[in-house]
Amino acid sequence: MPPQESHYRGRFAPTPSGPLHLGSLLAAVISYLEARRLGGQWLLRMEDLDPPREQAGAADAILRCLEAHGLYWDESVLYQSQRSEAYEAALHKLQQQDALFWCQCSRKALKGQMTYPGTCRTFRSPRANSAVRYRVTEQCDVFIDGFQGSQTANPAQDFGDVILKRRDGFYAYQLAVVVDDARQGITDVVRGIDLLHASYWQRALFRQLDLPTPNFHHFPVLIHANGQKLSKQSQAPAVSLQTPERNLRQVFELLQLDVAPTRPDQMLAHATTLWQPDQLKNIQSLPIALAKMPNRV
Ligand SMILES: [Zn+2]
Repeated sequence: MPPQESHYRGRFAPTPSGPLHLGSLLAAVISYLEARRLGGQWLLRMEDLDPPREQAGAADAILRCLEAHGLYWDESVLYQSQRSEAYEAALHKLQQQDALFWCQCSRKALKGQMTYPGTCRTFRSPRANSAVRYRVTEQCDVFIDGFQGSQTANPAQDFGDVILKRRDGFYAYQLAVVVDDARQGITDVVRGIDLLHASYWQRALFRQLDLPTPNFHHFPVLIHANGQKLSKQSQAPAVSLQTPERNLRQVFELLQLDVAPTRPDQMLAHATTLWQPDQLKNIQSLPIALAKMPNRV
């Protein structure tokens, strides 16, 4: 008898601003294991929204890197650079709901503010040389995060009005991610805890746009032994395509999965049988010793 069909749809959504580093490989692996454990689909989305920050060839390099690690995705890759019409349609819908305003505040004018102070909230129709902001009015939102447990915030007060389209004309991540999670039918968002706060904006937008809200699961970020987050900014080295077994071993060690080094796809299949999301419950960071980082390419 065929296994019961799962409706779970997860995704990995890298930004092609450089090659994958260990933190992004960890993100890919956790989202992959969770989707496969539940017999679901694992989709890929290239978050290439911001051409000035992108590196030529990085998107293709990421795909080759995933393949080298046996991380094969379902369906075709969705490229955000090709989704402008959908983002514009969503903005139009929000405008019809009077949920937007046009903001001309400079970075300098907002310096030192924890959240947007509401300066331009009265500009409810388009004006030139403006960013488009979403008016966040919700005063209480509560949800259960798959890894981090019960979450609650006052989005209006704690996070404030968020930019959906930048003054330079590029669409903002917060809009694109919601429109695309809906487009790809994502049921479960599995990503790093550094994006936990963004869930409140995104949850508000899913509701406002009348789109199904996915479940959220925020796993711990990798930190250096000195407490700094492992990121491209902190010179995290690229994972080497020459040593996929070793890179996967390193990720599995972080997840406390005892997987022997074989072929990457076999290692992932083995890890899928061992993986239990409870292992990451309420853990916010995973320290990694610099000596254990993979070699530079
Ligand atoms: Zn403003």
